[in-house]
Amino acid sequence: KRRLTVCVVGSGGVGKSSLTVRYLNNHFPEFYDPTVEESYITQMEYGFDAHDVEIVDTAGQEEFMLFRDTALAQGDAYLALFAINSVSSWYSLQELRDKIVREHEDEENIPMVIVANKSDLEAYRQVEFGEVSEYCRSIKCPLVEASAKTGLNVTEGFRMLMDRVSEIQPVK
Ligand code: GDP
Ligand code: MG
Repeated sequence: KRRLTVCVVGSGGVGKSSLTVRYLNNHFPEFYDPTVEESYITQMEYGFDAHDVEIVDTAGQEEFMLFRDTALAQGDAYLALFAINSVSSWYSLQELRDKIVREHEDEENIPMVIVANKSDLEAYRQVEFGEVSEYCRSIKCPLVEASAKTGLNVTEGFRMLMDRVSEIQPVK
């Protein structure tokens, strides 16, 4: 079987690169080029075994024109981010979710976890937790509030996604 591809998605500046680097290297990068799409191979556990997983830290999704050709359309599982201090990133995430589902032959049960990032910026919150959790319930998608900066719930977010992979695509 080909290796599992996890795409980290969300609009520019929500913290995709920061969260990915925090997960893989346990530090918060000071600067990360927002235009670069990076891909990492790591080992993750799902279906009771460790497997090679490719994590794609996507970039440049503001240009949806060539969506079909991007890594975004080819993921097996998605960590979908918005930032709690950006209402526009929250709206973008909902559009993104619809595009991903369409790209997967309207399969709504695709492994996805929604990450409300930058939870350390509570004082600047623009997106109510209640609204997000209601949306996530309606699409049956787990939700976690995280911070790439403090490290809060970063590992948990990836862990929850692997649990969804195990549930949706049981590995024999
Ligand atoms: P990307 O475009 O989605 O890859 O976003 P980046 O990872 O490049 O982050 C964009 C900006 O947000 C950078 O200045 C990061 O330092 C900052 N950032 C990322 N995650 C967090 C977080 O959890 N909390 C705070 N306060 N800032 C963050
Ligand atoms: Mg980035």
